[in-house]
Amino acid sequence: MELSLSRVHFPVTTLGPGRRLGIWFQGCSIRCPGCISADTWGPGKRHVGIAQLLEQLRPWLAEAEGVTLSGGEPFDQFPALLALLQGLRQSSPLDILVYSGYSLEHLQPQLQQAEGLIDALISDPFDERSEQSLALRGSDNQRLNLLTPLGHQRLASYQRPLQPADQALDLMFDENGSVWMAGIPRRDDVLRLRDLLKAQGHQVRTSAHRH
Ligand code: SF4
Repeated sequence: MELSLSRVHFPVTTLGPGRRLGIWFQGCSIRCPGCISADTWGPGKRHVGIAQLLEQLRPWLAEAEGVTLSGGEPFDQFPALLALLQGLRQSSPLDILVYSGYSLEHLQPQLQQAEGLIDALISDPFDERSEQSLALRGSDNQRLNLLTPLGHQRLASYQRPLQPADQALDLMFDENGSVWMAGIPRRDDVLRLRDLLKAQGHQVRTSAHRH
């Protein structure tokens, strides 16, 4: 079983509680207008076996306080998503938060198959016309669904408006000078930041998510 992977990063502090392991799937067929993760739309070239990926993640899982799966669209690779979720569940007690651009209703068959494996799901597509005032969400039409007791325990406190203290973005510098951003950027921030970094000679790519 292989997964088309965009990237993995640890620690991510803006997509759920604690220092989290972030796993971004490559490929999205939803294509919301205004998506700033367009680099994750295509099918991608980096395919990894689930067992190999889990092995690579092992040191980070030992340190992480949670796992966030995003993309791209994780449910566009459902067999691989399911296998990854099963592997993560077997190898760690961490909470698992998944971002999807599909509605909760659309995902019912898959969620039944993955029952107990996803603690919290942020569902629904990014809507650029919608307000952006809720924690963890890029637009207010998106829902935070708490699917397990662990999900309630870890993420119920995010059913709230954004607060000034909420950190919006993690910035990551790759060896080649590229800058990656993870998190839920506020609307104008990302454009301002992109211009600023480009002016300083950095290549800018975003894995920030707007599901
Ligand atoms: S916001 Fe998410 S679901 Fe929408 S196009 Fe971008 S990657 Fe796909």
